[in-house]
Amino acid sequence: MSLRDCIVCGTNDETEHYCSLKGFDYLRCDACGLIYVDQLGKTKKLYTAYSGGMVKSLRRKIMGPFRKFSQARNFGESMARADTIFSFSASQAQPSKQQRKYLDIGCNKGFLLAVGIEQGWDVYGEELIPELTAPFCNSYKKYCDHIYNGRFADVRSNFQDNMFELITAIDVIEHFEDVVSDLQGIFEILNDGGTFVIQTPDVACDEANRLKSKWGALKPLEHLHLFSAENLKTLVERIGFVDYQIFDCFEEADGNFVAVMKKPKSC
Ligand SMILES: [Zn+2]
Repeated sequence: MSLRDCIVCGTNDETEHYCSLKGFDYLRCDACGLIYVDQLGKTKKLYTAYSGGMVKSLRRKIMGPFRKFSQARNFGESMARADTIFSFSASQAQPSKQQRKYLDIGCNKGFLLAVGIEQGWDVYGEELIPELTAPFCNSYKKYCDHIYNGRFADVRSNFQDNMFELITAIDVIEHFEDVVSDLQGIFEILNDGGTFVIQTPDVACDEANRLKSKWGALKPLEHLHLFSAENLKTLVERIGFVDYQIFDCFEEADGNFVAVMKKPKSC
């Protein structure tokens, strides 16, 4: 049976079996180092894995609409983390226009959006699980219709081309089923000179090399493609992004790296 092509190299010429986990096979492209799931799970299965299973999901569904944003567990800690991430991202963006439109892909409970609002941005969010964003919508009614629930691919059509000066996807691109198409979508909705900031696990980190199949980032129902700073650069530059830069991660977990890239000024 033929192995799925590496999305960076476009072939499976140098692809080898890496490990099997929970009935899924991870492959590794020796040419670029990408580690990726061979047979993608059904979207519904991926959704369940991400939402934390039925009990957690049900509790959120029942409680979500009544909760206030500030009642989230570890609220202070989460806002402090969000402040670090958003402030860094906004400093990379250096918005020139008045509108300051910001999109957080995989916005979870909306902490980055709340910091964005505090710092004068017009914020938008995409989140797969609707219950997660319900408390944010309760507390920030004005921004309720800026929150889109579904996969990025499903909600992309709600955004106009050249709409955002800043987009973040923190711990998100490893979840994308069709990474190339989603990155293209992100490129389109960024305005000229717009900034895209990601954090994702690094296959080239010590932990990944040392732990092999026990590396924490290997979760075949959730993490479908695991990049290195190098192979991600190859992929995003092919899509058209420029000024690709690597920064220290926001969280050490799973050997994360942070990458910042731009849409060219006149595109
Ligand atoms: Zn490759």
